Amino acid sequence: MNLILMGLPGAGKGTQAEHIVEQYGLPHISTGDMFRSAIKEQTDLGKKAKSYMDAGELVPDDVTIGIVNERLNKQDCQNGFLLDGFPRTTAQAEALDGILTRTNRKIDAVLYINVDKGSLLERLTGRRVCSSCGATYHVIFNPPKVEGVCDKCGGELYQREDDSEETVNARLEVNEKQQEPLLNFYRNKGSLYEIDGNRNIDDVFKSIETILGDQQ
Ligand code: AMP
Repeated sequence: MNLILMGLPGAGKGTQAEHIVEQYGLPHISTGDMFRSAIKEQTDLGKKAKSYMDAGELVPDDVTIGIVNERLNKQDCQNGFLLDGFPRTTAQAEALDGILTRTNRKIDAVLYINVDKGSLLERLTGRRVCSSCGATYHVIFNPPKVEGVCDKCGGELYQREDDSEETVNARLEVNEKQQEPLLNFYRNKGSLYEIDGNRNIDDVFKSIETILGDQQ
């Protein structure tokens, strides 16, 4: 199965992606992860992507489409894949269609995890990170045993600057604007499946299984 996972920050994409790749044995292709590891390894790609990522901007389409094209042509993607964080623009979506058509493939389903704005805000602003080991918590959904203290190492927990309410609101707005044309693109093709993400992790995954069960 060739899948795309979509949703705003905080919708639970990362968690559902883990479940999907485990259950269906698909390679998880996250362009954000690919860029982050390229930056860590200081490759040419990393050098190209870094300034855009630091500025919170999208990496140019030609660069992004290039790495996805290369990745999708690898052997492990021939029997399916899960795209996460790509496409982010209509040009990327059209390029993806081209890449897949050339190799007699198509997108089977676009899974869109839809969560209310208020809940997204609550999820994102409640995140706390350990200053020492990097473990993450949530003040309501996954609190540490002692407020402000990491369960794992005793380090001090803090709120990332980009998790503040003002920044989160701005981030959600930008992402929503980016996402809208893509949702329409796949809705028009009849491949968009909207999933109510305002529920617990297991219930959301059950909905995904039902959708994918019909695809197989
Ligand atoms: P993510 O982890 O998906 O939030 O991506 C982190 C950053 O990587 C984004 O803010 C962009 O700068 C870059 N990035 C990831 N995916 C794409 C994409 N499909 N197109 C352009 N830039 C991307």
